[in-house]
Amino acid sequence: MSTAERPAGWAGTPVTGAELTERYQGAVMNTFGVPARVLARGEGSTVWDVDGNRYLDLLGGIAVNSLGHAHPAIVEAVTTQLQTLGHVSNFFISEPQVRLAEKLLSLLRADGRVFFANSGAEANEAAFKAARRTGRTKVVATEGSFHGRTMGALALTSKAQYREPFEPLPGHVTFVPYGDVAALEAAVDDSVAAFVVEPIQGEAGVVDAPEGYLRAAREITSRHGALLWVDEVQTGVGRTGDWFAHTAAGIVPDLVTLAKGLGGGIPIGAMIALGDAATLLGPGQHGTTFGGNPVATAAALAVIETIESEGLLAHVVARGDQLADGLERHARVEKVTGRGLLRGVVLTEPRSADVVTAAYDAGLIVNAPTPDRLRLAPALVLTEDEAAHAVATISAVLDEVLA
Ligand SMILES: *Cc1c(COP(=O)(O)O)cnc(C)c1O
Repeated sequence: MSTAERPAGWAGTPVTGAELTERYQGAVMNTFGVPARVLARGEGSTVWDVDGNRYLDLLGGIAVNSLGHAHPAIVEAVTTQLQTLGHVSNFFISEPQVRLAEKLLSLLRADGRVFFANSGAEANEAAFKAARRTGRTKVVATEGSFHGRTMGALALTSKAQYREPFEPLPGHVTFVPYGDVAALEAAVDDSVAAFVVEPIQGEAGVVDAPEGYLRAAREITSRHGALLWVDEVQTGVGRTGDWFAHTAAGIVPDLVTLAKGLGGGIPIGAMIALGDAATLLGPGQHGTTFGGNPVATAAALAVIETIESEGLLAHVVARGDQLADGLERHARVEKVTGRGLLRGVVLTEPRSADVVTAAYDAGLIVNAPTPDRLRLAPALVLTEDEAAHAVATISAVLDEVLA
């Protein structure tokens, strides 16, 4: 790489991607396979690898970098908070934690209580424990679901390949086909503690729920005194163009879990219990050392306040439609699923892994959640020009790979 190719401000040591990848394999546990690139720096929706190559990031750390890379609002909030008070434990209160809890409840327009965790899996573990406090133990989940990798969250995750090596998992979980109201009706009775569901299944490849599904789920769970637990870890905090994906269905759930985009890159999760569910967990029944940490909650407040001040919800809808309309014109695209800036691109052939590799070479980061689907979950600040570039580049890559 010539010095001229290095991004402005590039201050990395002269180490190559190949060298770091070899060292990674010697020191980092092999749970993710061998990653394709070594990234060095990011700004907005652009990232650079250590070899100086530049990419338009359409994955955003898997729906995490809501404001893109190095957004000044997050940098400022985190820096100021860390200089003031970085961590206190839950023996003490800090103001950002209280403000974030109040803010989340006001965005949900409901009374409730928030438990702060550090990841999506942990937010779901908290909800799982809350569900057990109903006095019932059965939980109904959906086929194709993903709720995390810890033992409890894994028990709710349907993929056999993830579950089977770790069985026995916490019990009394049954699975129903996603979107099937009759199957849900048959599975939920007065012995069920909760139905856990993603408003759009993210890891399954951005699978939409049929119209009316969440409303039916609300009605069925209410009728049987079961909790409706909506996992918004991937869909929440503006990703779909609404603050939460379930609000489009006009329902009020009992439990909502959040993580990914909430902290804009700083690890944080939240389990929000609404109405009567707010008191299911009491003193001593759950806890965490880091949860509600001032730095993480300050970052999340910065994310939410920036979405508000920059009018990003409407922007997300416009950019999402731009991506979907542009990509649906391609002959190799069967359809584009999802809403806002969480999109699945369904290909006419099961070649998504090859498309991802070619996209990297073309300077674009996308992901292949299933053999025939690409997933796009870019920063909510993706610009119109960037979205146009994304459509043009993905189209060119599809021409090349699926010629
Ligand atoms: C990513 C994800 C999780 C798990 O979150 P982690 O932070 O990886 O533990 C849970 N639920 C959904 C819907 C997710 O997309």
